[in-house]
Amino acid sequence: MSIDYASLGMTPPVWDSEVINFFGAMIIQAHPEIKVFYDGAIKDDFKDPDFQNRLNKIADILYLHTQKSKETLKIEFPIRNLLKYEVIQSIPEDLLKLTWSCRYPKIVAPWTFGRCHECPQCKVLDRVLEEHPELEGTFV
Ligand SMILES: [Zn+2]
Repeated sequence: MSIDYASLGMTPPVWDSEVINFFGAMIIQAHPEIKVFYDGAIKDDFKDPDFQNRLNKIADILYLHTQKSKETLKIEFPIRNLLKYEVIQSIPEDLLKLTWSCRYPKIVAPWTFGRCHECPQCKVLDRVLEEHPELEGTFV
Protein backbone atom coordinates (compact mmCIF):
# COMPACT_ATOMS: atom_id res chain seq x y z
CA MET A 1 0.00 0.00 0.00
CA SER A 2 1.22 3.46 -0.76
CA ILE A 3 0.11 7.03 -1.35
CA ASP A 4 1.81 8.95 -4.13
CA TYR A 5 0.67 12.58 -4.12
CA ALA A 6 3.09 13.35 -6.95
CA SER A 7 1.26 10.92 -9.25
CA LEU A 8 -1.54 13.48 -9.46
CA GLY A 9 0.79 16.46 -9.77
CA MET A 10 0.13 17.26 -6.12
CA THR A 11 2.67 18.21 -3.52
CA PRO A 12 1.98 18.54 0.19
CA PRO A 13 0.25 20.30 1.76
CA VAL A 14 -2.94 18.89 0.28
CA TRP A 15 -6.54 19.48 1.40
CA ASP A 16 -7.80 17.37 4.26
CA SER A 17 -10.56 16.00 2.04
CA GLU A 18 -7.92 14.81 -0.43
CA VAL A 19 -6.08 13.05 2.38
CA ILE A 20 -9.37 11.31 3.22
CA ASN A 21 -9.65 10.19 -0.42
CA PHE A 22 -6.08 8.87 -0.35
CA PHE A 23 -6.83 7.11 2.94
CA GLY A 24 -9.98 5.62 1.40
CA ALA A 25 -7.89 4.40 -1.53
CA MET A 26 -5.49 2.72 0.90
CA ILE A 27 -8.37 0.92 2.61
CA ILE A 28 -9.69 -0.21 -0.76
CA GLN A 29 -6.19 -1.46 -1.68
CA ALA A 30 -6.22 -3.53 1.51
CA HIS A 31 -9.80 -4.69 0.90
CA PRO A 32 -10.25 -5.02 -2.86
CA GLU A 33 -13.68 -6.56 -2.28
CA ILE A 34 -14.95 -3.00 -1.57
CA LYS A 35 -17.04 -1.91 -4.56
CA VAL A 36 -18.47 1.45 -3.40
CA PHE A 37 -16.81 4.59 -2.01
CA TYR A 38 -19.18 6.92 -0.15
CA ASP A 39 -18.25 10.61 -0.23
CA GLY A 40 -19.77 13.16 2.15
CA ALA A 41 -20.29 15.94 -0.40
CA ILE A 42 -23.52 17.87 0.20
CA LYS A 43 -25.91 19.94 -1.91
CA ASP A 44 -23.97 23.14 -1.17
CA ASP A 45 -20.82 21.52 -2.61
CA PHE A 46 -22.57 20.67 -5.88
CA LYS A 47 -23.66 24.33 -6.25
CA ASP A 48 -20.00 25.43 -6.35
CA PRO A 49 -18.92 25.90 -10.01
CA ASP A 50 -15.45 24.56 -9.17
CA PHE A 51 -16.82 21.42 -7.58
CA GLN A 52 -16.53 19.42 -10.80
CA ASN A 53 -12.75 19.79 -10.49
CA ARG A 54 -13.03 18.39 -6.97
CA LEU A 55 -15.11 15.47 -8.24
CA ASN A 56 -12.53 14.80 -10.92
CA LYS A 57 -9.79 14.79 -8.29
CA ILE A 58 -11.75 12.34 -6.12
CA ALA A 59 -12.08 10.01 -9.10
CA ASP A 60 -8.41 10.42 -10.05
CA ILE A 61 -7.23 9.64 -6.51
CA LEU A 62 -9.49 6.63 -6.09
CA TYR A 63 -9.10 5.04 -9.53
CA LEU A 64 -5.36 5.63 -9.81
CA HIS A 65 -4.55 4.35 -6.33
CA THR A 66 -6.93 1.42 -6.28
CA GLN A 67 -6.32 0.43 -9.91
CA LYS A 68 -10.06 -0.05 -10.18
CA SER A 69 -12.37 1.33 -12.87
CA LYS A 70 -15.75 3.08 -12.81
CA GLU A 71 -17.26 -0.34 -13.38
CA THR A 72 -15.53 -1.99 -10.41
CA LEU A 73 -15.62 0.93 -7.95
CA LYS A 74 -18.65 3.20 -7.72
CA ILE A 75 -18.38 6.63 -6.07
CA GLU A 76 -21.64 7.59 -4.40
CA PHE A 77 -22.81 10.71 -2.58
CA PRO A 78 -25.57 9.61 -0.20
CA ILE A 79 -26.13 13.07 1.32
CA ARG A 80 -25.84 15.10 -1.88
CA ASN A 81 -29.45 16.29 -1.52
CA LEU A 82 -28.90 17.76 1.95
CA LEU A 83 -28.03 21.39 2.59
CA LYS A 84 -25.41 22.17 5.24
CA TYR A 85 -28.02 23.25 7.77
CA GLU A 86 -29.91 19.99 7.20
CA VAL A 87 -26.71 18.04 7.86
CA ILE A 88 -26.18 20.08 11.05
CA GLN A 89 -29.75 19.37 12.15
CA SER A 90 -29.27 15.64 11.52
CA ILE A 91 -26.28 15.34 13.85
CA PRO A 92 -26.98 14.66 17.55
CA GLU A 93 -26.05 17.70 19.67
CA ASP A 94 -23.45 15.82 21.73
CA LEU A 95 -21.72 14.69 18.55
CA LEU A 96 -22.08 18.10 16.91
CA LYS A 97 -20.18 19.72 19.78
CA LEU A 98 -17.21 17.49 18.90
CA THR A 99 -17.06 18.66 15.28
CA TRP A 100 -14.67 21.29 14.01
CA SER A 101 -14.34 22.99 10.64
CA CYS A 102 -12.30 26.19 11.22
CA ARG A 103 -8.93 26.15 9.47
CA TYR A 104 -7.31 28.87 11.60
CA PRO A 105 -8.65 28.66 15.16
CA LYS A 106 -7.99 31.58 17.50
CA ILE A 107 -7.42 31.64 21.23
CA VAL A 108 -10.69 33.10 22.53
CA ALA A 109 -10.14 32.54 26.27
CA PRO A 110 -7.35 31.00 28.36
CA TRP A 111 -6.72 27.45 27.09
CA THR A 112 -9.68 27.76 24.73
CA PHE A 113 -9.70 27.85 20.96
CA GLY A 114 -12.62 29.22 18.97
CA ARG A 115 -13.54 29.72 15.34
CA CYS A 116 -11.75 32.52 13.49
CA HIS A 117 -14.84 33.63 11.50
CA GLU A 118 -12.47 34.51 8.63
CA CYS A 119 -11.55 31.24 6.91
CA PRO A 120 -13.81 29.91 4.11
CA GLN A 121 -15.24 27.19 6.35
CA CYS A 122 -16.13 29.71 9.08
CA LYS A 123 -17.74 32.00 6.51
CA VAL A 124 -19.94 29.17 5.27
CA LEU A 125 -20.91 28.20 8.81
CA ASP A 126 -21.53 31.82 9.84
CA ARG A 127 -23.81 32.27 6.81
CA VAL A 128 -25.77 29.11 7.70
CA LEU A 129 -26.09 30.22 11.34
CA GLU A 130 -27.28 33.66 10.22
CA GLU A 131 -29.87 32.14 7.89
CA HIS A 132 -31.01 29.62 10.53
CA PRO A 133 -31.10 31.32 13.93
CA GLU A 134 -32.58 28.14 15.42
CA LEU A 135 -29.05 26.71 15.23
CA GLU A 136 -27.62 29.50 17.43
CA GLY A 137 -25.61 28.12 20.32
CA THR A 138 -24.93 24.92 18.42
CA PHE A 139 -21.35 25.97 17.65
CA VAL A 140 -18.73 27.82 19.68
ZN1 LIG B 1 -12.16 29.77 10.74
